[in-house]
Amino acid sequence: MPTKTALPPEISSQLQKHIRGQVLTDTPSRGRYATDASIYQQFPVGVVIPEDAADIETALAVAREHSIPVLPRGGGTSQCGQTTGVALVIDNSKAFRKILQVDPAKATAEVEPGLVLDHLNANLKKHGLWYPVDVSTGGQATIGGMAGNNSCGSRSLAYGNMVHNVLGIDAWLADGQLAQFGNYGQSSGTAKQLGDFVKGLANRLQPEIEAMFPKVMRRVAGYNLDVFHPQSELPYTKDGSVNLAHLLVGSEGTLAYFKSLQLKLAPLPQHKVLGIVNFSSFYRAMDSAQHIVKLGPTAVELVDRTMIDLARHNPSFKKTIESALIDAAGPTPEAILLVEFSGEAHAPLLERAAALNELMSDLGLANTVVSMPDAALQKNLWEVRKAGLNIMMSLKGDGKPVSFIEDCAVPLEHLAEYTSALTEVFSKYGSRGTWYAHASVGTLHVRPILDMRRDGAQKMRAMAEEASELVRRYKGAYSGEHGDGLCRGEWITWQFGPKITDALREIKHAFDPDNLFNPGKIIDPPKMDDSSYFRFPPEYKIIPLKTNLDWSAWNVQNNPVTEETSAPGSGGDPALGFSKAVEMCNNNGHCRKFDAGTMCPSYRVTRDEKHLTRGRANTLRLAVSGQLDAAPGEDPLTTTAVKEAMDLCVSCKACRRECPTGVDMAKMKVEYLSHYKKRHGHTLRDRLVAHLPHYAPMVSRIPGLPALLNIRNRIPAIAKLQEWITNISAERTLPIWRSDTFWNAPIDSAASAAQYRFTPEQLQEESKAVVLLVDTFNAYFENENVHAAIQVLRAAGYQIHIPQMDTAYSASTTEQKCSKQFCCGRTYLAAGMVDEAKARLGALVDHLAPYAERGIAIVGLEPSCLFTLKDEALVMGFGQKAVAVSQKAQLLEEFLVDEFKSGKLKLNLKPADRSVLFHGHCHQKAFAAVAPALELLQLIPNANPTLIESSCCGMAGSFGYEVEHITVSKQMAELSLLPAVRLAPDSWVVADGTSCRHQIHDGTQREALHIARILAAHLQ
Ligand SMILES: Cc1cc2nc3c(=O)[nH]c(=O)nc-3n(C[C@H](O)[C@H](O)[C@H](O)COP(=O)(O)OP(=O)(O)OC[C@H]3O[C@@H](n4cnc5c(N)ncnc54)[C@H](O)[C@@H]3O)c2cc1C
Ligand code: SF4
Ligand code: SF4
Repeated sequence: MPTKTALPPEISSQLQKHIRGQVLTDTPSRGRYATDASIYQQFPVGVVIPEDAADIETALAVAREHSIPVLPRGGGTSQCGQTTGVALVIDNSKAFRKILQVDPAKATAEVEPGLVLDHLNANLKKHGLWYPVDVSTGGQATIGGMAGNNSCGSRSLAYGNMVHNVLGIDAWLADGQLAQFGNYGQSSGTAKQLGDFVKGLANRLQPEIEAMFPKVMRRVAGYNLDVFHPQSELPYTKDGSVNLAHLLVGSEGTLAYFKSLQLKLAPLPQHKVLGIVNFSSFYRAMDSAQHIVKLGPTAVELVDRTMIDLARHNPSFKKTIESALIDAAGPTPEAILLVEFSGEAHAPLLERAAALNELMSDLGLANTVVSMPDAALQKNLWEVRKAGLNIMMSLKGDGKPVSFIEDCAVPLEHLAEYTSALTEVFSKYGSRGTWYAHASVGTLHVRPILDMRRDGAQKMRAMAEEASELVRRYKGAYSGEHGDGLCRGEWITWQFGPKITDALREIKHAFDPDNLFNPGKIIDPPKMDDSSYFRFPPEYKIIPLKTNLDWSAWNVQNNPVTEETSAPGSGGDPALGFSKAVEMCNNNGHCRKFDAGTMCPSYRVTRDEKHLTRGRANTLRLAVSGQLDAAPGEDPLTTTAVKEAMDLCVSCKACRRECPTGVDMAKMKVEYLSHYKKRHGHTLRDRLVAHLPHYAPMVSRIPGLPALLNIRNRIPAIAKLQEWITNISAERTLPIWRSDTFWNAPIDSAASAAQYRFTPEQLQEESKAVVLLVDTFNAYFENENVHAAIQVLRAAGYQIHIPQMDTAYSASTTEQKCSKQFCCGRTYLAAGMVDEAKARLGALVDHLAPYAERGIAIVGLEPSCLFTLKDEALVMGFGQKAVAVSQKAQLLEEFLVDEFKSGKLKLNLKPADRSVLFHGHCHQKAFAAVAPALELLQLIPNANPTLIESSCCGMAGSFGYEVEHITVSKQMAELSLLPAVRLAPDSWVVADGTSCRHQIHDGTQREALHIARILAAHLQ
């Protein structure tokens, strides 16, 4: 039974004493390891994050001594609950992840289990090799976890599952000894003895094995007792030999702890061509799969109408998915099949794609194939297909697509019958299935929408019973990809019968007589619908919370058939939508990525679950549902547990865009901070940061004061003193104060700021007009950027309005008396001062709305300020005005590129004498505004702009100045940004964010420029 009891202190001290890595026993840490990507939750008794093999050996010895179960863990992305347990979790993914050896000639590799698949493949590329079990979670799934689950990739038709691609496993057994599992004929010692034992069982049960094991490739249930009498469509070994490592593959951590794995690699296909077949009938799509596989594709993958529609409505995926449609502007097809051909040369693949076309014509489906020979387009489309489940999971409300019969495998000739029969089952229970994935091998993923807090468990049981009847009718496998875990364990007996189940128990006993490894999985599992294992059991309750931001868009319920959501605010959330926003995280682990994109910069540096979007979402979920150790009546967002989890979140907004379910942690951080600071108070540093727009005008106007303040950057002792008083790091230079600010100095010979004032009506009269937002950072510290923007806009013939306070506003606050400048409230949000931010942002929105409503573009220079108008302003209760403003708000480059594309902009630009390196601000990336910057830079002859593939620069507003964060800040910058800048000493470096420019300066002593300045410098 799930319990929240932690390891006794004496055992945890024993571990702490002998282990170099981390030992975590506090409730929040255990809570972050209580879930995988399933519907289940079980608190582990503790978590060990080993540094090396010796740590694991020690942990296993301590666990054995005290009879504490052990649960090995990789990325924790399993969908069936096999990676949850009341056990000592050992997380291999942080440090136990080395590539031990690669033999390119033999095409083999040996790796530690915590290595992530994509990292292995990135390393193998130089040898022209890859590990071809290409699971959708390749950026997160570890080799150990993949072997634990017998995982299967999209191209299993060509390469098989894990069991077909593991050559050997060195594993610790329950008694602590290390055994080598490999070729049975060459085995010795305990591995041989265990092999002999299993062979005896297999020989005794040969008739049952032949009768009960499904004859499909996709069968992952139970243990692979059939190694001695193979039943899979694809033999486990090419020469028919028996490999004992295959007994461990799919054992879900229940037999032994993998120390290293020997893998069979494959040549990396040089060329690929994709044919995408569009179907107007789902049944026809399913029926066609059996014919298509005869053309010898490496993959045939299904994406159904619901998923295509969801992708079409997702800004990140829309363009890509529409490139796969016969009519990109037309109605959505009922299904598409992605048919991939790969090989050494391109031309023969094009012929095979042509053959696909012919086949479809022969099947009466002429003109249904989109041919996609371009590798980049293919890559993008595979990303959408891989994000399939996550796109579905972005459904708001308590009903969620649930995994429990999501990977039943049936022979291809029955696929159409099976899917339509199961669709009828779904509708009988008031739900609907969305189908996708591996049509090539008869394993289609489908997850009916169920509300596990209400009647989900009963429906799940009823549907599972009916699905099992169908699987039996079509001689399929009930568990075909994701494993057994808590969800399908009870179906092992159903699949194999009592005799084989007993044999599996004997195998477990022979390997692990004291039930040390992952108990309750495969052997003696609970019922799939035992709600005491659920993450959202019926008794799950949310602590009422008064929120400072408007979360009503999440506070909805959905219709499981139409997937329509109810009106905002009607979802019944006692936390007014905040908890439902938090619960959008389904634990799929996509935020554990290191490749392209930004999410999640703090995890990229620390590799700690606590500093990961998923870890934060889990912490918040546990907090708002009262599962952390908060005092009664305590606001759950004010606890230390939440503070620690949110501490390294740099509010980069990457998760908002890159998390497939749209978990928006930056917004949650504002909410958390506002609660936390209300209770614990603001520090001096908070105030210094938040009120910068307030005092910057005053400082700049007092003669001599800017120069005096700037001395701090030159005299270390003053910087140290300031650090002591304010906790602003002495290692960091501060922005240079100046008296010639934008508001003090004339703009050009023609005008001062006062002359850039037009009413909305006046501006509307102009053929080319724009509102230019002047923010605090650019106005008071880098006014050259504003001047440059004005110069460019004027050169292009635009009439410019610069928002400035008039007397009606200037009475309201002190700073406004001193400054004409509006404020977006960003610095206040960063300090959790939501009310102050609302007051300032509200005034700005009021000012801008009449311009926006007249269709006039609102252009900003500083991404963090500008995107506040497109993001936070929409959850502050400003209503329709804010929506109008958000729709017209753009960065300078977005505006100029749009104008250029519509033929309105003509800039006469001279050639650049150097190439341009561009770094995108995180918020710019989060709002897809990097591409326009590159497009704009391409207008400068010879600029040849290159994007620096970087995550967050690490400065993130005030984060990089904070004494406790400066090290992490620098580490973030060193991940890729600063090395890329150093590698290009002769390039212009362009960065729109003031913080990014500062970080680049501090880390490389190079001056990065705002895009406005590069443009202005190249005006003829
Ligand atoms: C969105 C999404 C898409 C997915 N797509 C696919 C897919 O395409 N194909 C597929 O097959 N699966 C898929 N999965 C399931 C899952 O991602 C894979 O099974 C993955 O291989 C698990 O890797 P992991 O590192 O997260 O393993 P974990 O979940 O951490 O562990 C998996 C099992 O292996 C055991 N284990 C881990 N390390 C060891 C070790 N050192 N020794 C012994 N046992 C160990 C664990 O105890 C556990 O039982 C998907 C999941 C999600 C959420
Ligand atoms: S935060 Fe998003 S990406 Fe990360 S696990 Fe949760 S849903 Fe997945
Ligand atoms: S806002 Fe950025 S740092 Fe924070 S959780 Fe999201 S991706 Fe990570």
